[in-house]
Amino acid sequence: MSKRDYTLKQMIEMKACTQCRLCAEVCPAVSASGEGMLSALSRMKGLRQYLKRRPALLRRLFGEAGLSEEAQKKFGDDVFRCTLCGNCQEVCPVGIGLKDLWLSLRTDMVRSGAGPAKIKTIRDNLSESRNVFAEDNAERADWVDGMRDAPEDRYLRDKAEVVYFTGCVSAYYPVAQRIPMDLVRIFDAGAIDFTLMGEDEWCCGFPLLGAGLGEMLGSFVEHNIDAVLRKGAKKIVFACPSCYRMWREYYPRRFEIFHASEFLLQLVRENRLPLKPLQLTVTYHDPCDLGRGAGFFDQPREVIRAIPGVKLVELGHSREKCRCCGGGGNLEMFDPALSSAITAQKMEEVMATGAQAVVSACQQCVRTMTTYAKRKGVPIEVMDLVQLVHKSIVGQTS
Ligand code: SF4
Ligand code: SF4
Repeated sequence: MSKRDYTLKQMIEMKACTQCRLCAEVCPAVSASGEGMLSALSRMKGLRQYLKRRPALLRRLFGEAGLSEEAQKKFGDDVFRCTLCGNCQEVCPVGIGLKDLWLSLRTDMVRSGAGPAKIKTIRDNLSESRNVFAEDNAERADWVDGMRDAPEDRYLRDKAEVVYFTGCVSAYYPVAQRIPMDLVRIFDAGAIDFTLMGEDEWCCGFPLLGAGLGEMLGSFVEHNIDAVLRKGAKKIVFACPSCYRMWREYYPRRFEIFHASEFLLQLVRENRLPLKPLQLTVTYHDPCDLGRGAGFFDQPREVIRAIPGVKLVELGHSREKCRCCGGGGNLEMFDPALSSAITAQKMEEVMATGAQAVVSACQQCVRTMTTYAKRKGVPIEVMDLVQLVHKSIVGQTS
């Protein structure tokens, strides 16, 4: 463990914790597992004990002795049993930047060799295949083959005004591939000059950050920027909130970037989409990275409300208080049982609304909730905002 992984601000913030426990009350990992050790409060306590083993400044700040070997190992694993949902940060009354702290902590764990073994898989997959699933990156746009209505160029154009950056989940997971298929159809309906990047698209780098491997990010950023520049594009659209946030926070600002929800809203406001009525009651799940992370709460709701006939009912916890679907923070790789238990909590809340469908605006949320609903026979349709809009354009009800 090294203090170089923490900023002075973070060191001071940790001292400011009042132990009010509000973070523990809203943590989906705590409520799904019943383990209070997974709360922000306990994690910070563990971190402070770790740091006490450091000399000089840190010891003066925190005093006392550190953790036993066994406790260190458990602590290292528990650091990654978190969805990075940011709910703890949202409620923290002293304003501790907990999400950034969790990323610093993950980096620290990996550098000190205390991270879970799965980190190596993520590192190898990303460095060898350029996507998180170890798939052939040349097959990144193969989902287009599943579209009978795809044009001859398969949406791979030399130049375009807009690049659609698909992200790894939509590119490779069959359950999420409906999202890019429907988004390109919407682009066509709105007469958007766009292209995919195919194999020239590499992972945005989000899984690297979540795995404490942020130092590998540089080559991914550089490659993706060059690939978009080669297309001559001015704008990039993302249906994945994590890709969007990566480009917003970790990439140099060379292009106008849009999450699909705001891009769709723009098209709706300009009356460029022929929306037909749908008789459907839906609830909306705010993806952590889009809602709390990027502040996009109204855009997706405005798009939903623009569809004639669609009724929106809110979840018990919505907007800033929305609870994670269980798919964030690479949790599925580190602790699939906990990830699934968090999804179970989510689906209970979804079913309590009485909605016919749950709509999100994130491929990972859609994948997580769809997989759970199918496996457990939960009678609800799960879809992305993009799919809902496409249904309305073609006038489908199911
Ligand atoms: S980010 Fe979410 S899962 Fe992680 S500690 Fe905070 S509330 Fe819990
Ligand atoms: S909400 Fe903030 S101040 Fe309260 S226990 Fe959690 S980290 Fe500490």
